[in-house]
Parts: sequence; structure tokens; C-alpha cells
Amino acid sequence: MAVLDRISTLDPIREKVEAGERLDFEDGVCLMESDDLLGLGELADLARRLRGGDDRVFFVQNLYLHQTNVCRVKCKFCAFAFTQKQPEAYTYTAEEVVEEALRQYDVAPFTEIHIVNGESPHVDFAYYVDTVLALHEALPQVHLKMFTASEIHHMSTLSGLSYEDVLTELRAVGLGSLTGGGAEIFADRVRRLIAPGKEHPDNWFEVNRVAHGLGIPTHCTMLYGHVETYEERVDHLLRLRELQDETGGFLAFIPLAFHPENTVFERRGWRHTTGSDDLKVIAVSRLLLDNMPHLKAYWIMMGLPLAQIALHFGANDVQGTLVREEIFHRAGARTEQEQKVEELVRAIREAGRVAVQRDTLYNELRRWA
Ligand code: SF4
Repeated sequence: MAVLDRISTLDPIREKVEAGERLDFEDGVCLMESDDLLGLGELADLARRLRGGDDRVFFVQNLYLHQTNVCRVKCKFCAFAFTQKQPEAYTYTAEEVVEEALRQYDVAPFTEIHIVNGESPHVDFAYYVDTVLALHEALPQVHLKMFTASEIHHMSTLSGLSYEDVLTELRAVGLGSLTGGGAEIFADRVRRLIAPGKEHPDNWFEVNRVAHGLGIPTHCTMLYGHVETYEERVDHLLRLRELQDETGGFLAFIPLAFHPENTVFERRGWRHTTGSDDLKVIAVSRLLLDNMPHLKAYWIMMGLPLAQIALHFGANDVQGTLVREEIFHRAGARTEQEQKVEELVRAIREAGRVAVQRDTLYNELRRWA
């Protein structure tokens, strides 16, 4: 059956990949429906190499922080957010964020700080500007990858400023790039079910378009493994591809598996995604996103062993060392919260690839032959 499936489904798509032809919506759905997992992986790795990829696998030495977990949006898939009155809620001052960053930098120097937050209605735009400025002044050598496009929309709502003005002001005080969160699944049907309080996807795209126009690079994601169909996954990927065609401003795509613990979906008996689905999403993403320079196997979400396999399914990045990741761990991720550089290097090398430490913009800092 697997052999038949491979002949009937993957071969015509393989011909397009080998000819350098762009895959379309129907191809994407066929790939998602295929049970030939190894065939998908092999095809995605072929596509990666035909488009100029080599044996290098990247990682970054970074620090994850959150300024506030207070959020007004109440996405149903989220285990991270709280209301201001709940005992778990926190909102750190700019000074507290800097203090923690300096403390961590002394333990293990990093080249990137990654910050995402809840959308708190109890702060103002100056809160964000002050934090970026204080971090930049304390650690000018560190790239500040901060905020999702949804948070930029939130700041625009808080301040009454345009996306362009918000981004210009943040960049002036040290913002280097935006994170990729907030994309979820773009289809209206899915958003109504899982994130009815979130801004329309058009806003997410417009923030990214404006950022790219200002020369601020961004990242993009897809949260999969909940109520979405294969068609809605493919639609999501093709919408990202379209914006990348227009601007070229995305640095990398990161598929994010849904983790149900501590969400309303846990009470409905929902389970984690399986390794097969995680690998399939990596492979199909690599095949459809022919204009996306990098694809991350996010080990914090899938675990380092599966991330190693994903390196043979089209991924070329395992993200970073990360300290104190909260979003996936509150939702049930059982992975470590931190990996030492040596562990990442070992995992990449044992997967048969060349480990490269990069900065946020994919400049090579160190290579392990
Ligand atoms: S996913 Fe983000 S916007 Fe949605 S509730 Fe959680 S913190 Fe808020």
C-alpha cells in the first residue's frame, strides 16, 4: 500500500521538485494526505538541497524571557496567559527584565534575547519602549528579537500609533527583529474556534509587511495539531509564501505543535501531536515554502531526538539554547528548558550534519567540522 501510495502521490510531485517547479495547493494537500512518511522526508531533503541547502545546521545561543503573562485575548489553546488578578500573573519592570538578562548573560553569554508576552491592557506603549531601550543599553552587543506581530498590533491599539510609527520607535531604541508568533492558523473558521479574541490575520500580515518595508526582519509560524484541516494548513503555508514573494523579509519558518495541557482542549481529552505528524509538517513546509531561507525544528516543542530526524525532513535549524521557556512548558512540553551548546552540537553531528552557531541574522559565528 505504501509503495502504491508513493507511486500515485509523490512521483508527480517529485517530478515538479526536480524540475524546480513551484508546488500548488493541490500538491500541498496530496503531500499532507500521504502516508509515505519516509518518502516525504526524502523528497523534502531533496528539495532543500536542490534549492542550495547544504549540510550545515544552525543554532543560536539565546535567552527566552517574558515581561508579562497578563493577556486580554484568551486564546483557547493558550496555557501561558493569566488575568491581572490571578496569583500566577506577573508584569516585570524594564529594570527587572534587564537584571535577569544580565544575570543570565554572566552565566552563559548569548547573542540573542527572544521576548514574547501576553497582550496586557494594564501597560502602555512606553512600557515596551522603555524595556527595549534598557535592554539595548545594558547589552548593546545582543540582538533583540522581540514581540510578535500580534503584540505590535496591540501596541498600535494601546497608543493610537500606526504600525509604522510603533515599529520605527521600537527600532530607534534597539529592536532588531520580530518573533514569528501570533500566526496560529489563518483560516477564519479555525480562528473563530481557537482564538476568537485575536486580531484578524490581515493585521498580522500587515504588521509583517510594514516591518519588512522598514528593513526589520521577522519570523513566521504555524500552530498545528488542533482543529485545522490539511487544507487549512496548506492555505496557511501558501499565504506565508505569498508575502515572502512580495517582501522577502521572513528569516525563517517555525512549525509549532499544539500542546493541550492546561488549556480547555485538555478537558476535552485532546492529545499531543504524534511524531509522524510533526515530521510530516516539517517536510511539507519545506516543500511548499520554496522561498523561505530557513526552517526550524524547534526542539523545545518536539524534543531533541525528533528534531534530529527532522534534519532529514527539510529542517536546517534547531533554534537555540533557550533558558526558561514557559509557553510550551505550561502547555505540557516535557522537554528540557535549556540545552548546552555542546549538547546541540552533539545532536547535530550525530544526525550527520555540520553544526554552525549563528547570530539572529544567520551570520556564521562558529562551525564544528
Ligand atoms: S496566545 Fe498570546 S494572545 Fe493568545 S491568550 Fe496566549 S498570550 Fe494571549
